[in-house]
Amino acid sequence: MSEAMNGTDIVLSLNGIRRSFAQGEKRLDVLRGVNAAVKAGELVALVGPSGAGKSTLLQIAGLLERADGGEIHIAGQMASSLDDAGRTALRRDRIGFVYQFHHLLPEFSALENIVLPQMIAGVTRKQAEIRARELLERVGLAARADHRPAKLSGGEQQRVAIARALANRPALLIADEPTGNLDLHTAEAVFAMFQQLVRGEAAGGARLGALVATHNMELAQRMDRVVEMRDGVLVER
Ligand code: ADP
Ligand code: MG
Repeated sequence: MSEAMNGTDIVLSLNGIRRSFAQGEKRLDVLRGVNAAVKAGELVALVGPSGAGKSTLLQIAGLLERADGGEIHIAGQMASSLDDAGRTALRRDRIGFVYQFHHLLPEFSALENIVLPQMIAGVTRKQAEIRARELLERVGLAARADHRPAKLSGGEQQRVAIARALANRPALLIADEPTGNLDLHTAEAVFAMFQQLVRGEAAGGARLGALVATHNMELAQRMDRVVEMRDGVLVER
């Protein structure tokens, strides 16, 4: 299949991803040949016990860390053979990442946190602000645009982090336990918003697909598909 054809519907493809860590004298084989594909429009839950390798896999899929072996395609582009500059550009243009802890820049407002990644990608400040305000509106935080992260609640911080991850209209959204740090009620509200936003972006022609690690089986079941990390590989549930 040509890359162009691939790119029309597969936003993430992982083939034989391997990663080991040295642990004292021993070697810990965390990823032993992970295969996975996420399609545009699809919301895929990644589950598995603590220490199973979910974060390791998401960091590799998000081009934040390198694998020891295997192939990665992001929106039809071969990522695993790119140099650091190529990886950085692909990550910036095609991937949005949401962490368990918001990782917002503390000295900037909610609006600025969503504006900055767009300006880094070459969007004018004016256009970036229009997009940022629209996203803040959609996460229900239009009135908090000028607040710094410290002035926001945990749920609000995650909403801003989600809006930021979508700022550059990524093809792939990766989230590592995005509601793991929230109380159940807030987690529920943030997840509902997350789901709506991903579906809205996908429907709006952004061809967005998402891979979301979660401990919460109830939330996982509400996604389109659930995959589980087990003994270093992914199995469909
Ligand atoms: P999960 O997110 O599923 O809880 P992780 O991917 O964080 O799991 O970790 C998987 C395993 O890999 C754990 O045993 C962890 O201690 C180990 N690990 C993760 N990152 C490193 C690292 N940089 N160096 C050494 N060991 C690591
Ligand atoms: Mg983790």
